[in-house]
Amino acid sequence: MAGCLFCAAPLRHTFVDLGMSPLCESYLSADQLDRMEPFYPLHARVCERCFLVQVEEYVRPDGIFTEYAYFSSYSDSWLAHASAYVDMISARLGLSAASRVVELGSNDGYLLQFFVARGIPVLGIDPARNVAPAAIARGVPTVTELFGRRVAGELAAGGTQADLVLGCNVLAQVPDVNDFVAGIKLLLKPGGVVTIEFPHLLRLMADNQFDTIYHEHFSYFSFLTAERIFAAHGLTLFDVEELPTHGGSLRIYARHAEDPSRPVAERAARLRDRELAAGLERLETYASFTEQVHETKRRLLEFLIGARRRGKRIAGYGAPGKGNTLLNYCGIRTDFLEYTVDRNPYKHGKFLPGTHVPIHPPGRIEETRPDYVLILPWNLEDEIMEQMAHIRSWGGQFVVPIPDVKICP
Ligand SMILES: [Zn+2]
Repeated sequence: MAGCLFCAAPLRHTFVDLGMSPLCESYLSADQLDRMEPFYPLHARVCERCFLVQVEEYVRPDGIFTEYAYFSSYSDSWLAHASAYVDMISARLGLSAASRVVELGSNDGYLLQFFVARGIPVLGIDPARNVAPAAIARGVPTVTELFGRRVAGELAAGGTQADLVLGCNVLAQVPDVNDFVAGIKLLLKPGGVVTIEFPHLLRLMADNQFDTIYHEHFSYFSFLTAERIFAAHGLTLFDVEELPTHGGSLRIYARHAEDPSRPVAERAARLRDRELAAGLERLETYASFTEQVHETKRRLLEFLIGARRRGKRIAGYGAPGKGNTLLNYCGIRTDFLEYTVDRNPYKHGKFLPGTHVPIHPPGRIEETRPDYVLILPWNLEDEIMEQMAHIRSWGGQFVVPIPDVKICP
């Protein structure tokens, strides 16, 4: 039996078992379709001692991260989110040309570029080899490493520490959360601030976002578990914001435990109380999630079977990781979904892992005029419906699968 990623207690309790699934960022080329494809158990468990929800690591992080297909820059709303964050945090912390910002999981530099534009020195750290050249091309120095104690120690020894350490949607993907947070402690200057954004487990459960569970996401955090993990490494969470991104995220603010200059904000205590009231420190709360997931699968299949029986044609929009969890778990292949489209040219001509649904450029939808467009990145629902509003000219309708199957004429 595997032990908890954080506290090493035995993992005996199921959160949800999504069966066998391929790695959801392993898009296939045409010549790979006839080959064997590895599937791994996608079984999320909850720790009985610290309540960290987690998926066991079956594949070395190297296999996941060295060629990561997701370039963050491709979503307009995400870029706007990054830009607004940089404005806010630069003002709040008074960052200047004398400061240093380090981003963990910096991708192609889409966020740090906004600090660069303000003349604030930055450093990106990202383990994916194929994103650093794009980042460097836009003026964002980037180190290709999996962040942890070793990398932080080397940077600190070389005189690089940060006034601001930030991470957006990287914490869940860290294979060794203790090593990662211990690294943050080493990298942070005295008086420095850490901000980390991650999908909020409370929202995942309340809004049925089971498709955000995949092999590349090892951990799923509540505020309470995040607070416990940071505290174990000498960092205090002194503030938190609830954000609408990715279906509901938290932005936690941390500082050195020994730094008295930033008192703990009232809203941190309020969120802690809400999570306790929602039962996030009781095992029974987690045990009830499975039935909710089963019901969503039945409803989505019911709709798809009915639509196909009536001769309707269905295409997908987007090829996100979460779409792959949903389609594999529900057994939705080209028998239901003719194809999907994506704005990321990296994915064009490729196929979704497991289900082998082909990925085309968005123009394909105008050419084939499907009756329904299934929105796989439901967190971008409004943006996509606006971009694709022209499907209504031939009577096309949108289908949003999560939190509950919804048809939007
Ligand atoms: Zn634990």
